[in-house]
Amino acid sequence: MTTAEEDLLCYAYDATNRHYRPDAVAFPANTHEISDILKLANEHRFFVVPRGAGTGMSGGALAVKGGLVLVMTRFSRILTIDTENLVAEVEPGVVTGHFQEAVEEKGLFYPPDPSSAPFSTLGGNVAECAGGPRAVKYGVTRDYVLGLEVVLPTGEIIRTGVHTAKGVVGYDLTRLIVGSEGTLGVITKIVLRLFPLPEVVRTLSVVFDRIHDAARTVSEIIRSGVVPRTVEYMDHAAIRCVEDYQGTGLPADAGAMLLIEVDGSQSAVETDIRDLTEICMNRGAQVRVAGSEQEAKDLWRVRQAISPALFKLGPDKINEDIVVPRNRIPDMVEWIDDLSSRTGLTIVTFGHAGDGNIHFNIMLDRRDKEILEKAESAVEALFRQTIALGGTISGEHGIGITKAPYIGMEIGTEELALMKRIKALFDPNGILNPGKIF
Ligand SMILES: Cc1cc2nc3c(=O)[nH]c(=O)nc-3n(C[C@H](O)[C@H](O)[C@H](O)COP(=O)(O)OP(=O)(O)OC[C@H]3O[C@@H](n4cnc5c(N)ncnc54)[C@H](O)[C@@H]3O)c2cc1C
Repeated sequence: MTTAEEDLLCYAYDATNRHYRPDAVAFPANTHEISDILKLANEHRFFVVPRGAGTGMSGGALAVKGGLVLVMTRFSRILTIDTENLVAEVEPGVVTGHFQEAVEEKGLFYPPDPSSAPFSTLGGNVAECAGGPRAVKYGVTRDYVLGLEVVLPTGEIIRTGVHTAKGVVGYDLTRLIVGSEGTLGVITKIVLRLFPLPEVVRTLSVVFDRIHDAARTVSEIIRSGVVPRTVEYMDHAAIRCVEDYQGTGLPADAGAMLLIEVDGSQSAVETDIRDLTEICMNRGAQVRVAGSEQEAKDLWRVRQAISPALFKLGPDKINEDIVVPRNRIPDMVEWIDDLSSRTGLTIVTFGHAGDGNIHFNIMLDRRDKEILEKAESAVEALFRQTIALGGTISGEHGIGITKAPYIGMEIGTEELALMKRIKALFDPNGILNPGKIF
């Protein structure tokens, strides 16, 4: 454990760029140490905040009320990869990308792929129910968690779920913990489902002159019955930003781009590419199928550079990850375009359009109070519009602290009261990750 000022500063932030200095930071090495810490926390009434890599976008790992930050990165072992049953058991501090590489070496595939995979942890992924580009075809983290070991806020160690392909005994505590944002327990082991590695993967870049054609094409792809494994979307502003940041090789006047990936057997992939090319070209797009693995990697580098590149447009970012039904993407894109013209705010959109998940970013300088107020009103309007279109205010980043003021816009009074009762049952003294979600 440390209370050195420099350590406290290092663990005072996450990807929201907000800062809350904890009182101490601990680096537990095993489940029993965590259990002892939580028992002590109940006895002496101090707060405990679990933390993975601190890449969260909603402030979940921040010690907003002070207390002890519990850094889980020493839980970094891949315990088993069972190639016969397609199941792995891991500790929560394993870096997502390292795990993906380890299973791929054995011919297996762990599909959830948050763009933060090179540095986020599997524990953080489970706690946030992280998604990623491949969710269009393969779903999100929740769909891969078969079971967990969890230390309850009161210190008891529990095991949930199964090591088998299915199992329905008792309430599904695994699903309750997944996505609970570090408020119901500290995850210390994770049992994950795996797939065989697909035979072939191909990447297509699809460039449109007009943003609306890109949005309509996404709906048309979904309706067509072809199931790509990714349909990533970036608007003109996102493409320009990355062009200035590192160069993209894309036409400078591109209105929008889709990055589509298909996988499966050679013949299925060829058929999918043919069908997708036809759908996209009917909307006037320029389609290019990456000719090599390197070319595909370069295209993904463009997508991955968006987040850092955006800071060329302003020192601060308000980032939301709304989801709308996929046939409403064109309506949402049009509404955001109109919002941008009406308010004069610098708005950039990109995201996992294949599952309706649009990342909405306002770039600004938070010190400019007038702009900040305008941006906050725009976010509230965005959430109202999202819900009016039948969507949800967060597809993957969670509620944490940043969206807590808005949760009542989507979740009813009775349901919220039930969630609070569940929290009180798990954590009667309110010591684990206080100030989050509600
Ligand atoms: C550039 C960038 C790209 C991103 N792209 C995506 C994306 O495509 N999809 C996506 O879903 N997210 C994305 N994110 C958000 C973020 O990476 C994910 O939410 C990720 O799951 C957080 O993992 P972490 O290890 O950093 O967790 P942290 O940020 O450390 O913690 C996140 C939450 O998990 C809890 N937690 C962490 N470990 C445990 C544990 N062992 N037990 C209980 N609770 C725990 C914390 O208390 C906190 O509430 C992105 C972030 C960045 C910076």
